[in-house]
Amino acid sequence: MKYDVLVLGAGMVGVSCALHLQAKGKSVALFDRQEAGQETSFGNAGIIQREAVRPYGFPRALSVIGTAATNRRLDVRYHASALPRVAGPLLRYFNHSAPAAYEKIAADYASMIAMSIDTHADLIKAAQAESLVEKQGWLMLMRSQKNLEAAFAEADTLQREHGVNHRKLNQQQLAELEPGIAKGQLVGAVHWTDPWTLRSPGDLVKAYAELFNRRGGEMLFGDALTLEKTAAGWQVRTRDGETVTAAEVVIALGPWTTKLTERFGFAPPMFVKRGYHMHYAALPDRKLNHWVLDEERGYLIAPMKNGLRLTTGAELALIDSPSTPKQLIDCEAIARDLLPIGDRVDPEPWKGARPCMPDMKPVIGAVPDVPGMWCAFGHGHQGFTLGPATGELLAALMTGEKPQIDMQPFSAGRRF
Ligand SMILES: Cc1cc2nc3c(=O)[nH]c(=O)nc-3n(C[C@H](O)[C@H](O)[C@H](O)COP(=O)(O)OP(=O)(O)OC[C@H]3O[C@@H](n4cnc5c(N)ncnc54)[C@H](O)[C@@H]3O)c2cc1C
Repeated sequence: MKYDVLVLGAGMVGVSCALHLQAKGKSVALFDRQEAGQETSFGNAGIIQREAVRPYGFPRALSVIGTAATNRRLDVRYHASALPRVAGPLLRYFNHSAPAAYEKIAADYASMIAMSIDTHADLIKAAQAESLVEKQGWLMLMRSQKNLEAAFAEADTLQREHGVNHRKLNQQQLAELEPGIAKGQLVGAVHWTDPWTLRSPGDLVKAYAELFNRRGGEMLFGDALTLEKTAAGWQVRTRDGETVTAAEVVIALGPWTTKLTERFGFAPPMFVKRGYHMHYAALPDRKLNHWVLDEERGYLIAPMKNGLRLTTGAELALIDSPSTPKQLIDCEAIARDLLPIGDRVDPEPWKGARPCMPDMKPVIGAVPDVPGMWCAFGHGHQGFTLGPATGELLAALMTGEKPQIDMQPFSAGRRF
């Protein structure tokens, strides 16, 4: 089995890369240990976040750092046992979040986020997946007047500087949009109107992978860690023992990427922010119409295909260490107070890992000093949003075309 390009990893990022390379006339094999869209791209909150032009910076306020350091926050927790491994990347993350550095990073990040809806729209149309998508935006709920006013001011800035649209909702308007939510706890909300949402994010990845297959692409199964350099390029072994070869390889293994690239001498300081989800039965008289973020508590609830999906914030832990879903348990209690919800639907909380870089930007392009190896990973909180844009940009780089935006800020050779 011989291809021009082997794409390792069939999450939102890998599938999108495979589709765009295929569109450039390359013969492409997509390679994963399981069906497409079963990992991080399955369990996320399902928002194509056109509003997310400013990536999550490391908090700089001492009050926030203090509560985080003592593990008293709901939106972020850490495993002390992970600190020896993550302290270095976190220190860099802290430095990149200093105001001047952060503003430059945010400007670069915004250039990619601006491509998110259009690049998904093209693939959604081609994949005939319109029925999976809702276009009503999402709500950022606020509990205090002071924070609501700050959120409104920030939304105005994003509109002015990045064309991000929103509506400002007072308590009454919010109650009309979401009558199921308990009144009195909230003072209003920012309604981000541009983002699109998915009731089953994994199904969209699956629809994109089916499009790739219909267009003649091949999905193969096996362990990407079998990758080897050969005289002619690259090879992996499928789980059936067959050898697959290609001139070039794209590593798009999400949070597992560096496990492979390290073997070829490329070990950027990636760390993961783990997150959990659980589905709950919706009570008949307490319907939720939108995706809602309880901004001041740090969790999100979404009306998804399998029930109301509660997703948690960041847990700084090693990717393979056992689940500790304390944030989920604590947020569940708060969520029940805000919106009466039914029983848990899943037997266990789902756990995933956001692949994060200290400078908050994905890594897209040629792997330094490894000819024929390319990468697309490190999309942190917005990999579902940025998958198709990544595919388009990487395919342009790999075929010698000029990408739509400057790719230097996202290069694998940058200083992390
Ligand atoms: C709780 C939570 C909520 C989120 N909400 C959002 C959101 O609303 N919007 C948004 O844009 N982003 C969101 N994200 C982030 C987003 O989900 C990720 O950035 C994105 O899914 C990463 O995609 P990926 O393709 O890089 O990785 P993945 O989807 O994890 O894909 C990696 C693939 O590599 C495969 N793989 C790994 N190792 C091997 C191996 N050895 N051999 C073969 N195959 C292998 C896996 O099977 C998998 O299919 C959220 C994340 C979490 C955890």
